[in-house]
Amino acid sequence: SISFNQYSKGFKKSDLKVIQNLTMSIDKGEVVAVVGSSGSGKSLLAHAILGILPSNANISGTIKYDGDELTQKKRTDMQGDEIALVPQSVNFLDPLMKTGAQVRLAAKKKDAIGAQRRVFDQYHLDRNAEKLYPFQLSGGMTRRVLVSTAVISEAKVIIADEPTPGLDPVVVKEALSSIRELADNGSAVMLITHDIGSALSIADKIAVFYAGTTVEIATVKDFYGKGEALRHPYSKAL
Ligand code: ATP
Ligand code: MG
Repeated sequence: SISFNQYSKGFKKSDLKVIQNLTMSIDKGEVVAVVGSSGSGKSLLAHAILGILPSNANISGTIKYDGDELTQKKRTDMQGDEIALVPQSVNFLDPLMKTGAQVRLAAKKKDAIGAQRRVFDQYHLDRNAEKLYPFQLSGGMTRRVLVSTAVISEAKVIIADEPTPGLDPVVVKEALSSIRELADNGSAVMLITHDIGSALSIADKIAVFYAGTTVEIATVKDFYGKGEALRHPYSKAL
């Protein structure tokens, strides 16, 4: 599992903490949907798990993986193997590497090419797509390549930062069901999304993120069972 304990993150020139005293955990086998307003710190949270924050200044509290604090060394050992990110930004793709080769780098199995082709088939990326560079892809193809990378990794921790915008509904369904499947096979999954429908369709829990921390975290059932009165204004919109 991944757990945050009183975790805070700020940026140098400001006292304002972008993430504030966050305490939450994501267990193995579980999909936790993180929803919340734009700029509330969701991507930053994803990047904090991977240790790829723009600066290491102004951090307090801890992030633990299976009870051990995620130090920078531990992250380096784990990255791309035990932790996989479906990034929100396409800037995470290597512009100089063909898509097939990039996805194969993340493959666990020996038969990387077979695994890559299976996952590309699953996401309707044809044999030509694997030979393209990122700049040659359409927006939806780019997303599908990013999702493929995480799916093929079978990582123990999967962080999907808005994996499905701009995808056609059939692919959205497939992407979500493979994310669910990763959890069912024992991964801990954080699904960051603005699409509450997607969240509800596969998540076990919903965490509402507002101004840098969770204002509500509950199982999907409890979330809607709680009654209007108990909910934060942002949650009420959901
Ligand atoms: P969205 O839903 O729009 O993707 P988000 O919740 O993912 O939003 P983040 O990308 O985590 O938001 O950004 C949270 C806040 O942190 C924003 O106000 C952003 O401007 C700020 N921020 C991110 N990176 C930096 C940085 N390098 N220096 C200063 N502030 C930053
Ligand atoms: Mg974001």
